[in-house]
Amino acid sequence: MAEAGTFADRVKQQADIVRVVGEYVRLKKSGANFTGLCPFHAEKTPSFAVHPTKQIYHCFGCGKGGDVFSFVMEMEKCQFPEAVRIVAEKCGIPIPRPKERSPEERKENQQRAALVEIHREAQTFFVKQLEGTLEGKAARAYLEDRGLDKEALARFGIGYAPSGGDALLRYLRDKYNEKLLVESGLISRDQSGRLFDRFRRRVTFPIANESGKIVAFGARALGDDQPKYLNSPETPIYSKSNVLYHLDRAKDAVRRQDFAILVEGYMDAIAVARAGFSNVVASCGTSLAESQIKLLGRFTKRVVINYDPDAAGQTATERSLVSLLEQEYEVRVLALPAIEGRKADPDLFIREKGAEAYEKQLREAPPYIDYLIARARQMDLTTGEGKRNAVNFLLPYVQKIPNRILRSEWATRIAQQLRLEEPVLRAALSKAAAERRSEVKIQPELAGRAAKPVERRLIRMLAEAEGFRKELAQHLQVSQLYHGLETEKIFAALIVASLSDAPLRPSEVAAMLEERDRRLFFEILFEEAMEPTWEEAESCFETLRKRQVERELAEVQRGIEANPSRADLKTLLSRKQELMKRLAAAR
Ligand SMILES: [Zn+2]
Repeated sequence: MAEAGTFADRVKQQADIVRVVGEYVRLKKSGANFTGLCPFHAEKTPSFAVHPTKQIYHCFGCGKGGDVFSFVMEMEKCQFPEAVRIVAEKCGIPIPRPKERSPEERKENQQRAALVEIHREAQTFFVKQLEGTLEGKAARAYLEDRGLDKEALARFGIGYAPSGGDALLRYLRDKYNEKLLVESGLISRDQSGRLFDRFRRRVTFPIANESGKIVAFGARALGDDQPKYLNSPETPIYSKSNVLYHLDRAKDAVRRQDFAILVEGYMDAIAVARAGFSNVVASCGTSLAESQIKLLGRFTKRVVINYDPDAAGQTATERSLVSLLEQEYEVRVLALPAIEGRKADPDLFIREKGAEAYEKQLREAPPYIDYLIARARQMDLTTGEGKRNAVNFLLPYVQKIPNRILRSEWATRIAQQLRLEEPVLRAALSKAAAERRSEVKIQPELAGRAAKPVERRLIRMLAEAEGFRKELAQHLQVSQLYHGLETEKIFAALIVASLSDAPLRPSEVAAMLEERDRRLFFEILFEEAMEPTWEEAESCFETLRKRQVERELAEVQRGIEANPSRADLKTLLSRKQELMKRLAAAR
């Protein structure tokens, strides 16, 4: 929310939503509004509208709507602060430098800056070692053997950490104090307190954060040294679960193509990127952490998992799947075929079969459920117990599908493919669904709602009547005429906003509403309407009063027909007469 007085609020005031949206959607003026093809759902005739003065957008097709920030958040798959920054940039509003709040914070920032600098220096050092030393020459031969030519080494910043044990230390020691060097994770301290290089006799791969700053290294042993792969430890600037290798270079392609290829290690990511698929990222761990999934989710919600085909890779695939499905990703799984009996990781496959063959595999990668069914079919399905095992293997995934219809479709498919009795499977599914229900937030009923014309008219007036908004709100509040209406919550929010002295902003009223009410509210705001007048408002009140009387009359009538006691009947009849009289007078 753009709270009053904040930078976000100022940007919102100054931003022109038509201009910002116009950069993504071709808009045409139509009456007071602008319309175009909705960017959030596929359509041929425009049902997407932008309101220039109310500074909101609304799609009459899919129902998406909001203010300039929510539009940018949706389009750029970014968070609120990032959306504020983007809008400010588009509108030429200078962005204030973030304030450092306390001396500790300033110190922390300085420390982080120094650590990033150390990594930059280390990168220069490693690259030089690979290029210009005898040891580096051996490393280059090894890399060449793996298909990495000069161009690839330069493109991915691959370097070499020499075997000496303190080469990097000697290079950095004059410029940084020991404490900082140890904090960087590049230098370690042994029990006797002596410092030494963490990476020795290893090929180094710089690991950058999302904005392209090197924050860690991955290193592969050149000989048979163990472990084969050694990474930087967790440091103040690097947390394994918050970084995806290659995302800094992949993010534009990921956003453009709206999907990411997910591989295990940096060698795979490099091979896939070099084959021409720049939308590849590596988890650099056996399975995907939740924060990595969230990070990726800012760019796409569609993933093709292409992990190693060995048992560890399979487990990692299945574990990552669960987390991705929980975050409502659309997932396909690419299991590369073996090459001459050898299981193929992306690196090997591309080297042996080439980019085109990989692209074909990628294109044909099945939805995850087909991958899982194929896995289940490898189990023994001839016995009852075997079938139960297969179902138990599949159920947790099906359970994670948030969409009920989709879940049901998959159930049918699983039953067919595994030759199971569908009712049995469905029973298991609905039991699983019942267990799941408590943790799932129920989607609000989003079907369009009809509000009576008089309610729509009054809502519109409250949003627009600059001259008498406050009076209107007061009258409605005192008379309680909106109580019991379907639109009651919209009225309540509008009344609260109207009684304050601040100017009324539709997107702020909308923020107080549930999604279904928000949709109705925006729909009403986009209707053709006349200038509001107090006379019209009074005639609306009249209609609502009449409806109130009618409602009470119906209730009294029900009371009369319910066989009341003689005394009650008398009261009810006289009440009925009174209400009839009022109705007649109103006509
Ligand atoms: Zn739409």
